[in-house]
Amino acid sequence: MTGLRHALVTGGGSGVGRAIAHALADAGMEVTICGRGMEALEAAAKEYSRLHPIAADVTDAASIASLYKQAELERGAIDVVVANAGIAISAPAAKVSLEDWKRTLDVNLTGAFLTVQPALSGMMARRSGRIVFIASTAGLKGYGYVAPYVASKHGVIGLMRALAAELARTGVTVNAVCPGYVETEMLERSVERIVEKTGRTPDEARAGLMACNPQGRFIQPEEVGSVVRWLCSDGSASVTGQALSISGGETW
Ligand code: NAP
Repeated sequence: MTGLRHALVTGGGSGVGRAIAHALADAGMEVTICGRGMEALEAAAKEYSRLHPIAADVTDAASIASLYKQAELERGAIDVVVANAGIAISAPAAKVSLEDWKRTLDVNLTGAFLTVQPALSGMMARRSGRIVFIASTAGLKGYGYVAPYVASKHGVIGLMRALAAELARTGVTVNAVCPGYVETEMLERSVERIVEKTGRTPDEARAGLMACNPQGRFIQPEEVGSVVRWLCSDGSASVTGQALSISGGETW
């Protein structure tokens, strides 16, 4: 990890983001974590001295600008950006409200762009850096009842490919990680919605989601953290423009 000292992980106070923040801290980096709620961020930071919480909303460019200003003043230039913050709203496509459509695109796609954009000039000037988008298998294939989510994650893969092409000769790599169902609060909310809408038991709902994974299990957040850590290592310098599926073989 020569030269990579300061990482930003959005949504770093919970689930996948917290596990990524832990993995990068274990690799010796100082990690700025952000989310809208300070409580979860502070709880995550209590566990690890290298985690530094700052409240910010990824849909608000001014909020992200002020996050960068504070984080870089305190810990130096951000040389790893992990755009992880995301939301999932489920409904049949025919019933998706315009508000939910726009909100999902705003957080998952525009928010990912706003998160990485302020880092680009500095990384290119230093000829070093890593950008990692936390997309989803929903960026690689379709799923029913989550049209805005699937569209937003396909958009994230497109954004990643565009940046990888543009930055290929700059020493900066740009990749996306595409997990299948990961055991986090987001998954638990999906299970609750299935139970509410279909009358299935929680165990039946969980079994239905788990069946998507050929390995017959949920992905653990730490498994995503470990792939992101590898993408930030010296050995992955030639890996760019890739959408890495972490799904037990569900997609490839
Ligand atoms: P989670 O536990 O619900 O975490 C989502 C995080 O995003 C929270 O920390 C939340 O913090 C933050 N966030 C949401 N809106 C935000 C905003 N406007 N500004 C800043 N932060 C915001 O979900 P997760 O499962 O860890 O998901 C993390 C990422 O992995 C998401 O991009 C998700 O799409 C992706 N993913 C998850 C799964 C899965 O099965 N769980 C599978 C594939 C991909 P605040 O609420 O405090 O803002």
